[in-house]
Amino acid sequence: MKAITVTPRTPNSLRLQDVPVPVPGKREVLLRVLRIGICGTDRDIISGFYGEAPAGSDYLILGHESLCRIEKLGPGVRGLKIGDLVVPTVRRSCPENCVSCRNHQSDMCYTGHYFEHGIKGLNGFAAEFAKSDSSYIVKMPESLSELGVLLEPLTIVEKGLLQTYLLQKSRLIWKPERALVLGAGPVGILATALLRLRGLEVDAVATRSKDSVKATLVESTGASYINSKEMPFSSLDYKYDFVFELTGNASVAVSAQDLIRVNGIVCYLGIYREDQETQNVGKVFTELVLGNKLHFGSVNANITYFQSGAKDLVRIQKKWPKLLSSIITRKGGPDDPQKIYNPESEEEIKSIVEFSGA
Ligand SMILES: [Zn+2]
Ligand SMILES: [Zn+2]
Repeated sequence: MKAITVTPRTPNSLRLQDVPVPVPGKREVLLRVLRIGICGTDRDIISGFYGEAPAGSDYLILGHESLCRIEKLGPGVRGLKIGDLVVPTVRRSCPENCVSCRNHQSDMCYTGHYFEHGIKGLNGFAAEFAKSDSSYIVKMPESLSELGVLLEPLTIVEKGLLQTYLLQKSRLIWKPERALVLGAGPVGILATALLRLRGLEVDAVATRSKDSVKATLVESTGASYINSKEMPFSSLDYKYDFVFELTGNASVAVSAQDLIRVNGIVCYLGIYREDQETQNVGKVFTELVLGNKLHFGSVNANITYFQSGAKDLVRIQKKWPKLLSSIITRKGGPDDPQKIYNPESEEEIKSIVEFSGA
């Protein structure tokens, strides 16, 4: 079968490769991949920054954002049938089966020895077929047979948002009114939609102009778009109840601190370079204390967030029928991976590789 692969940690080894169709074991399913989404994680793996092939293999099949149909059931699989439209989650339990992993929270794995499809020790979904443990499969409604590929990026903010509410409601009477989203890539646009669904006023900040596709999509949800080149953070006088930091830029992340009001919360979802300069750390900690502020980081998402995310994706599609399809700005086949994995224009938001039509 056709698969998009890399030799992990070898820069620019991206290629189309002919590999055997996987055979599902006990409690595993064989998935026919309809389409996969491409994101910064894939591009980092292609650049050789990280990525790990399955044990004993010299290649890694890419792809962690997917939409599939069940092709075949291994013996012992319950609750799924051939033809079901599904999304597999990304992370799998560590070999030690730590207390988080054995309680369906591999996103909170204590050992760090977890596996991730398409990233760390397990083949991904950028192939005609893939296999997965059946207990990590989420069924999708047929209304999402095109756009369900956006579920995985949505789950990242789904987790961040649900954890924010849990944290805040356990420590104070919290009635958030206004949120700020830093970064308006696919995840930032999905975060904006999610917050608008919850009835919050939302401002989203990015560096593109006010008439860019990103700005238009943000504003189509009733949120406001701010071009940080025209209006720097220091001139934002409003204080927010909640900030989602998605830029992965350390100095933007530090400024987020100044943008939350008393009792506010910042959720960090970026990966920040350690050598980036930071500002006055003493000031950050003092404001944290004096304002009862809360900062937390969040990564990955377990099946609970995929299940609630699937419901939110349906709600988003119903409320803004053009939004999700507009996030997908390019579709292509798998035959020329170099072309589809490299952004073609500044207006590109999310590229999709189509493996099978139905
Ligand atoms: Zn991704
Ligand atoms: Zn674990």
